[in-house]
Amino acid sequence: MLKIENLSAEIDGKQILNGLSLEVNAGEIHAIMGPNGAGKSTLAYVLGGRPGYEVTGGSVQFDGKDLLDMDPHERAAAGMFLGFQYPVEIPGVSNVQFLREALNSQRKAREEEPLSGGEFLKLAKEKAALLKLDMEMLKRNVNVGFSGGEKKRNEMVQMGILDPAFAVLDETDSGLDIDALKVVGEGINAIMRQPEKGVLLITHYQRLLDYVQPDFVHILANGRIVKTGDADLARQLEAEGYDAVMEPA
Ligand code: ADP
Ligand code: MG
Ligand code: MG
Repeated sequence: MLKIENLSAEIDGKQILNGLSLEVNAGEIHAIMGPNGAGKSTLAYVLGGRPGYEVTGGSVQFDGKDLLDMDPHERAAAGMFLGFQYPVEIPGVSNVQFLREALNSQRKAREEEPLSGGEFLKLAKEKAALLKLDMEMLKRNVNVGFSGGEKKRNEMVQMGILDPAFAVLDETDSGLDIDALKVVGEGINAIMRQPEKGVLLITHYQRLLDYVQPDFVHILANGRIVKTGDADLARQLEAEGYDAVMEPA
């Protein structure tokens, strides 16, 4: 579903990704862990097509298409969702307006009929209930004055509504208390744990992986994948730290 081959990328002339290869098949959840500054967020930004990130080598195929050739809107319309560590605040625009606009612009790009206000509200209510998010919050301005946990739940509602084929979640668990972590974990499972979908879950902590069981765990260091294992690798990292686990035997 997502095939990254030998990807290299730089920011401001500084090489960050260094020949990174990774393949995610439909139905799989892959966790990416790694030390600070390894290039995890850079990978997420490059997949999303954020300006300023220059790809200097390699390729990324998404459903057989050249992802790097698509602009960020085309990537979203093709089913690629990116969730970030620090969600943006948009004063003056309600969550409901924002999400309906986002969904309908993706539907338009896929030549599907837009949802009416009523149809959209029904969908939003269903997803908000799934994530235990008060509908009142959806009427507030996007992320303005939300707590860290509320922003993350809100991001999960966005994901539920957009119903992407593939999600890249960058430290969606950072700063969450135990209850919020559980809600987010269950949200990821409910929305994305499906045979035709794929997930790249970037996380610093094993605890999210207690809720969202990864099929594969990768360690990203110095801009490439240096080790791949199963859920045990994450537990080993938590117990022993990166240096011990990455040390050549
Ligand atoms: P991670 O998410 O794994 O902690 P990042 O992808 O955020 O790592 O960052 C990787 C490296 O890129 C870091 O060394 C960081 O300092 C550097 N970096 C990030 N943004 C810029 C920038 N705009 N200019 C130069 N270097 C940057
Ligand atoms: Mg970081
Ligand atoms: Mg990061």
